[in-house]
Amino acid sequence: MTCTYLLLGTLVEADIKFDTSSRVWNTNSSSCSAGYDLQGVATHEFGHAVGMNHVAQNSGQVMAPSTGTCNLSQRQLGRGDQNILRSKYGS
Ligand SMILES: [Zn+2]
Repeated sequence: MTCTYLLLGTLVEADIKFDTSSRVWNTNSSSCSAGYDLQGVATHEFGHAVGMNHVAQNSGQVMAPSTGTCNLSQRQLGRGDQNILRSKYGS
């Protein structure tokens, strides 16, 4: 979960928290046998931390609103994610 803080409409701070009480996390850098992929979820939450919002679930982008266990596809930004970042921050 990510909480962002705005000051006069500008993102000034973000806090990211990973639920360790009810989630199992995969921390294997190359594969997954169980749990949510920490690297992929972190990439998604960092997206929120830089001001990105959710996109359509089946868009194949990191910023899709939910993920399943052992989904390693969110480790890398999709083209749509990259386009959103470029529109916010330039290339
Ligand atoms: Zn999200």
